[in-house]
Amino acid sequence: MQNKPVALVTGANKGIGLQIAKDLAAHGFTVLIGSRNLEHGETAAKSVGADARALQLDVTNQASITAAAEHIRKELGRLDVLVNNAAISHTGKPGRSLEEMVKSARPSVASLDEVRAVFETNVFGVVAVTQAMLPLLREAPAARIVNVSSSVGSLTLNADPTNRYRSMSGTYSWSKTALNALTIAFASDLESAGIKVNAVCPGFTATDLNNFQGTRTVEQAAREPVRLALLDANGPTGTFTNEEGPLPW
Ligand code: NAP
Repeated sequence: MQNKPVALVTGANKGIGLQIAKDLAAHGFTVLIGSRNLEHGETAAKSVGADARALQLDVTNQASITAAAEHIRKELGRLDVLVNNAAISHTGKPGRSLEEMVKSARPSVASLDEVRAVFETNVFGVVAVTQAMLPLLREAPAARIVNVSSSVGSLTLNADPTNRYRSMSGTYSWSKTALNALTIAFASDLESAGIKVNAVCPGFTATDLNNFQGTRTVEQAAREPVRLALLDANGPTGTFTNEEGPLPW
């Protein structure tokens, strides 16, 4: 087992996940760059530096998840932080505008195949990866799980008729609502094991997920997820926050 703590970030080959990986490496972690395409992961790992290693990980593929957990056990012997960051906003053609994505994801018209695919990645993928990594996390002195969610998954905000963003409650937003529910469930399940599980909204950030229409930088977006990954023993569990503080569930 190596002395340095180890963090796994899913979907870290680009976007906010890559920045989270860079920041955790700067905080002294060996960082595993989870990437469904290994070559993309290797390129990203090089951009992080010597403390990063690519790890093939498709969160919708159980064989890939099992192999990733076995690889971590064999090569590093420990896992201290899991950042469930991988997600998709739709399954349509890449480069669709945010407006197009939102229009086709309304519950009255959304394709059931797309709904299943979005939940497979954003929700069931998190359950599968977390379960596979738990044996390693349970052995860590202070394990932390960070679920990268979104304020568009907030039921409270979506139920508010004055919220002009509630029209964005398409498939992606209900998948993040489910992720929030999972965060609370895992937090309570793992509390006695001392594993803190929190959900975070990185804010509206310019990445592929929204065709680069977001207004925040990845550097800004990574700050709150990284803070939650580094919580000390007095830190909370079962919370939902952004950089400014608590968000309504
Ligand atoms: P992004 O640039 O599109 O990155 C998404 C990452 O997830 C990519 O690395 C992608 O890999 C990976 N991924 C997708 N499906 C996967 C799978 N089946 N297995 C493994 N990896 C998979 O988007 P982002 O904005 O950085 O998103 C990161 C997180 O922030 C997501 O959870 C997102 O919901 C959340 N978030 C983003 C915003 C925003 O405004 N951008 C706002 C709130 C929350 P490929 O390169 O192979 O596709």
